Amino acid sequence: MRAFALGYHDILDGGGPDSSGFPGATAARYKLEAEEFSAHLSAIAGVNAPVLADARTLGTKSSGAVPVLLTFDDGGAGALAAADRLGRHGWGGHFLITVGRIGTNGFLDKEGVRELRRRGHVVGSHSCTHPERMSVLTPEVQREEWTKSVLILSDLLGEQVDVASVPGGYYSSAVARTASASGIRTLFTSEPTSRLHDVDGCLVIGRYSVLRGMAPSVVAAIASGGISPRLGQVLLWNAKKTAKVLGGESYLKVRRLIVSRGRQS
Ligand SMILES: [Zn+2]
Repeated sequence: MRAFALGYHDILDGGGPDSSGFPGATAARYKLEAEEFSAHLSAIAGVNAPVLADARTLGTKSSGAVPVLLTFDDGGAGALAAADRLGRHGWGGHFLITVGRIGTNGFLDKEGVRELRRRGHVVGSHSCTHPERMSVLTPEVQREEWTKSVLILSDLLGEQVDVASVPGGYYSSAVARTASASGIRTLFTSEPTSRLHDVDGCLVIGRYSVLRGMAPSVVAAIASGGISPRLGQVLLWNAKKTAKVLGGESYLKVRRLIVSRGRQS
């Protein structure tokens, strides 16, 4: 089973980078202006990518085009702006909430989290405290992060929450095992792969992280899985343009992502 999952973070709706989500320059690299995000969605629509509203239905799909999943980490205040843009395409997203930040500066409050769910989006956990490196924590602490966040969210939404994403991009199979033991059945990581796998009854889904300045054509190529050698060159060229904005380290990340995608297709 495969899926092309895109990992977004904050969508900025007129405010500065610190108006949504975690503050600082590192987090800002993952924050997109609403207009830039809209251009991404148009590009995804332009390649007729089959956007799947709920990853939990993946197992029930028969073979066909590889579905695209749109995910949003952190639970920043801009999530509702992202939901507005998704709504224009009739698409559903997966919003993964840092539960300990609900109602704090730059993050959704309880009503905002409920509103996402009311609009039909999937709402899941992104841990309680957003540990920088989840995979180095003891299993007990990992379990506490998952269990507590799922409990609070389930209580808030009045339904069992069983979807989550790993904070900070630090994944290991132990992280999936503690997630599964906490009732999580679908877990998004930041590993750039379209191949899904199961860990103790939890479906683990990799994602392609989206950076600010990433060309819509790159996102559309990921979503459509259509990376030919020639198109690969175009993507790299676009990634280099992005690098001018973001600096060398990000360029390497984007390049690794594209090379990794190329190997899979
Ligand atoms: Zn995060």
